[in-house]
Amino acid sequence: MAKGNISVDSENLFPIIKKWLYSDKDIFLRELVSNGCDAVTKLKKLAGIGEAPADEEGYRVTVKLDKEKGTLTVSDNGIGMSAEEIDKYINQIAFSGANDFLAKYKDEEDKGSQIIGHFGLGFYSAFMVADKVVIDSLSYVEGAKAARWECDGSMEFDMSEGTRDKRGTEITLYIAEDSKEFLEEMRIREILNKYCSFLPTEVYLEVAKEKTDEKKDEEEEAPKPVNNTNPLWMKKPSECTDEEYKEFYTNVFMDFNEPLFWIHLNVDFPFNLKGILYFPKINHEFAAQEGQIKLYNNQVFVADNVKEVIPEFLMLLKGVIDCPDLPLNVSRSFLQNDGYVKKISAHITKKVADKLCSLFKNERENYEKYWDDIDIFIKYGCLRDDKFYDKVKDVILYKTTDGKYMTLDEYLEGKDKKEVYYVNDPKMQSQYVKMFKDKGLDAVELLSMMDTHFISFMEMKNSEVKFKRIDSVLSQEEDAGAKDEERDKKLEEKFKARINDEALKLEVKALKDTPAPAILLLSEESRRMKDMYRSYGAQMAGMAGMFKDEFTLVINSENELVKKLDNLNDEDAGIVIDQIYDLARISHSPLTPEQMTKFIERSNMLLSKIY
Ligand code: ADP
Repeated sequence: MAKGNISVDSENLFPIIKKWLYSDKDIFLRELVSNGCDAVTKLKKLAGIGEAPADEEGYRVTVKLDKEKGTLTVSDNGIGMSAEEIDKYINQIAFSGANDFLAKYKDEEDKGSQIIGHFGLGFYSAFMVADKVVIDSLSYVEGAKAARWECDGSMEFDMSEGTRDKRGTEITLYIAEDSKEFLEEMRIREILNKYCSFLPTEVYLEVAKEKTDEKKDEEEEAPKPVNNTNPLWMKKPSECTDEEYKEFYTNVFMDFNEPLFWIHLNVDFPFNLKGILYFPKINHEFAAQEGQIKLYNNQVFVADNVKEVIPEFLMLLKGVIDCPDLPLNVSRSFLQNDGYVKKISAHITKKVADKLCSLFKNERENYEKYWDDIDIFIKYGCLRDDKFYDKVKDVILYKTTDGKYMTLDEYLEGKDKKEVYYVNDPKMQSQYVKMFKDKGLDAVELLSMMDTHFISFMEMKNSEVKFKRIDSVLSQEEDAGAKDEERDKKLEEKFKARINDEALKLEVKALKDTPAPAILLLSEESRRMKDMYRSYGAQMAGMAGMFKDEFTLVINSENELVKKLDNLNDEDAGIVIDQIYDLARISHSPLTPEQMTKFIERSNMLLSKIY
């Protein structure tokens, strides 16, 4: 038997392992099970080239719980380790890694980061939950001797000849008092589901029967692996059916709504990347909705929503990404500064844009059907990422108030002015929509908070294009034939005197095809600034107050009622002007309660005059 001292420099190791990983003890199981899988993969490779005997009974990793003994074991029938190898991989390598680790990260406050595995310390995470760990191993090499290693978490370990007679490794954890939860089947199953669902080697969970539990012997079923060793993303896209994609989506994300469409990523060069990204049905309540992108490393689950790898705006998607070249345990700060990660992120963005363009080109009808669901996501992407905008700018759609979908170019085609008329509250703006329709003009719906920002962004990108809310412009040009400046001036004075509001601008226009006597217009610029500040939330809402609404009342000199004003006495003219003004206001936005009361009284009075 050999006794050894782990390493002089590593005296602080165990406390650090415990402290650093305290917040996520679960990963010990991932580390041990994936080590088992790796051992199997290595053996398969050797068998493949005739360096090891082919397997007779099926490769597997088994997690076994024994409550009575207080142990959790992880065993595999992979390559195994000789005593020399245990010494090399467990005693020495790990600890030189540990020294590095300690030197580099001792003072860093970045706790919770999972750097340990990165330094080849994955195995030692067992000590987060166990006070004693035993390795029993038999190497695949012919004539190899079994080896046993034992360590109780102090700085000492024992090495001795082992008794294992089957190729492979068994790690036994004597679960510590404060970690008894890891003897519970439910708990272990949950962890296996999270981290091991797609490992490439079959993983089984066995629970030792308690002595008192005699009943259930009869109905023993053949055990099933907890994982799917051949997940869809590992297959060639050409070999996957729509049904498989949908089923995978439902199983992995527990989302019973069908995804809209998906992208299967499959890159070998210049980096390795596989995965499937789904576009879920997104409702307009954007903030409440968070997608889920699971990051894997060679089928081992690493983390959800790793912002550094997936561009932020793609976080609304759901999917799986497998990057075998990324270290399994890496700190966020490492990822942020890694050029490789940036490339992955750029590649994903490009693929998403390509998919959207191809849908637009080849399946326009479907693409239009998806639009309401992907609208926000695409616009957000454009705002966040110029490259993404450049790629998708020609496939951004605008939905008209008639429910048609058009690109910007399609909308502007054949129009003299490069102006996009929009509504952001179709009900409230219905009077204006009607006036536009009567003139054969389309308006588009830009309804979400994000559209406020998107509009400004589009104007910045396309300096010749202006977006104007439908209540900021007249739907028709003035009829030049009927202009009479002197009369118009008088008319304007009359309204001005009666309405008596300094802030209100007045204009007289000859609008032959507009039935209304007057229309209220609201300046696009000031209103938009207000909206912008409002959309920033409560803190900025105060700023919105700095921008006064700039209203203009356009009086239609072609309207019969307006024409008759000259014939009325001052009192009657005043009443009619009030009524015209109120009607213009009502068509724009709700009246205040006082204004409403006056309006109703006046309307009743006017009715009683007629009959
Ligand atoms: P890592 O897996 O990151 O290299 P570990 O501390 O988990 O770090 O393991 C160190 C080394 O020990 C592994 O690289 C491997 O060579 C060896 N090892 C660990 N577990 C097993 C196992 N079940 N079978 C064979 N070798 C193993």
